[in-house]
Amino acid sequence: MKAAVVPELGAKPEIQDLPVPEPGPGQVLVRMVASGICHTDIHAAHGDWPVKPNPPFVPGHEGVGIVEKLGPGAGLHAVGDRVAIAWLGSACGNCSYCVSGWETLCESQQNSGYSIDGAYAEYAVADDRFVVAVPGEVSSLDAAPLTCAGVTTFKSIKVSRLQPGETAVVFGIGGLGHLALQYARIFGARVIAVDLEDEKLELATSLGADHVINARDTDPVEAIQDLGGADVAVALASAPKPFEQAFSSLRRGGRLVCVALPASGTMSVPIFDTVLGGKSIIGSIVGTRADLADVFKLHAAGRTKIIAESRRLEDVNACFDDVLAGRVPARLVFEF
Ligand code: ZN
Ligand code: ZN
Repeated sequence: MKAAVVPELGAKPEIQDLPVPEPGPGQVLVRMVASGICHTDIHAAHGDWPVKPNPPFVPGHEGVGIVEKLGPGAGLHAVGDRVAIAWLGSACGNCSYCVSGWETLCESQQNSGYSIDGAYAEYAVADDRFVVAVPGEVSSLDAAPLTCAGVTTFKSIKVSRLQPGETAVVFGIGGLGHLALQYARIFGARVIAVDLEDEKLELATSLGADHVINARDTDPVEAIQDLGGADVAVALASAPKPFEQAFSSLRRGGRLVCVALPASGTMSVPIFDTVLGGKSIIGSIVGTRADLADVFKLHAAGRTKIIAESRRLEDVNACFDDVLAGRVPARLVFEF
């Protein structure tokens, strides 16, 4: 099978011909139909973060495909089912996090395309318990971005405790941001979008943002405070500065949700303002299987719209360059 393989950290992914993997106990073999590109895959290939993948490895955690074969003991999904392979490849199922609905915090988790091979391949094996069924109404091209960008931003809005009538600001309108602003609207908020590119802001307006701010020519903190300040700010831009701007854009009682993971990320926060203003800083990492099922249901009901472009796996390096240069409308998806 064809797969994009990162041979060593910092090296460009290569297209290789690998044997089709055999599903082990409790695993399913999935024939990929669509596989989205998340910025995390580029961080993985570069070895940007403190916890590193172990090369050679196959990136990808927005995989959507058809179950072709069941390993011993697998049976939650049937051959022919369409399923999604998300970042949470597996978790222990028994720890305090797993049993309390926080499997995404499990310390024994495996991550697709990071600690285990992922979805940049014609086939992948995955844990039968952790793949999520894709409803028939959701196309594979849409399901792929929903599998990380969708569930991650849906969860970030949930943990922000956003209430109807509040103001949410989304910093960074890309693959994640274009969905974050739609979920904020579903939760009933007034939505402000911040980006450096006018094209992204036009996209935000077309998806229902109430206000847009280009941070290249306007101070976003001042502009948001002029609009009354944000109850919730979601930081999705992969650089430290927007995190501090997002915090400073909060009104009293406001919540900053940190989602993006800049390669070198330290944020400076004023203690006085945090205490007197009753402000919160929340870290949010992807979402659970149940969250992803809800994301698919909302999309099947026509409540969200995906902006994605189809690409070929062979063009993986050009795709990475386009993502890094901010040249993509929202999401790129390999179609097989
Ligand atoms: Zn991702
Ligand atoms: Zn666990």
